[in-house]
Amino acid sequence: MNKRTLIVGNWKMHMNTSQASMLLHRLHERIKIHRNIEVVLAPSMLVLQPLSMQIDRRKFRLAAQNAYHKDEGAFTGEVSFTMLQDLAHYVIIGHSERRLYFHEDLDLVRDKVAAAVRNGIMPILCVGETDHERKAGETRQLLHDQLTTALANLTASDVEEMVIAYEPVWAISTFGGQLAKPSDVAKDMEFIRKQVADLYGKRAASRVRILYGGSVDDQTVRGYLEIEDCDGVLVGGASLNYHKFSGIVDAAYRMRHESGDE
Ligand code: PEP
Repeated sequence: MNKRTLIVGNWKMHMNTSQASMLLHRLHERIKIHRNIEVVLAPSMLVLQPLSMQIDRRKFRLAAQNAYHKDEGAFTGEVSFTMLQDLAHYVIIGHSERRLYFHEDLDLVRDKVAAAVRNGIMPILCVGETDHERKAGETRQLLHDQLTTALANLTASDVEEMVIAYEPVWAISTFGGQLAKPSDVAKDMEFIRKQVADLYGKRAASRVRILYGGSVDDQTVRGYLEIEDCDGVLVGGASLNYHKFSGIVDAAYRMRHESGDE
């Protein structure tokens, strides 16, 4: 199966509506339609609606950065997956900023993944260890726990469709941004695919898309995309810069082209 390379830009809590619209305009100018590359933009919740009117759907899809796991009710200040159905194709769930700053625990992440799937929005589930956990040799156990709980209420075909982003917390720019060695990342991504195989079988494991995230930019992306188990990247800081983000998409395109797989 020839999966499309997936490039996701997480804009986090940056840019008001007009700034976001300007960035999208610049990205439209620079990024071409590529059959084998899927580009996803995750703006703030406020900006999803206006961008959904502006976006060229042949080039981009939209993702939400979060949502609440109940479909409707008296939950002041929250937005449900049900409300996002027409706006977002994907949703980022379990990002380390949400786990650490907003205390989202394993059970809440599991409920959010289930709510996304129930509402037809594809989860981009983020998993990854802190620096402390890595140094204590707990990476594998942590990845196991995060995956086992988050995928608990799904079927194998739900899992096939979803995306898992391996984001070592210490490599994310917010938490230090140390560059992870692709050779180390390769082992952890292989472990993640193996975990999915153990839980849901070989077919789900070969189909689920696994991304790498952690201070990726146009200069470093190639090293990660060369990893056998890597189906794309989740980009934070560099996605706010249209030169860098379109450079990442170009690098992915060149790699597909070089492999005769344009
Ligand atoms: C992220 O927050 O998901 C991320 C990968 O951020 P950055 O690229 O800035 O490290």
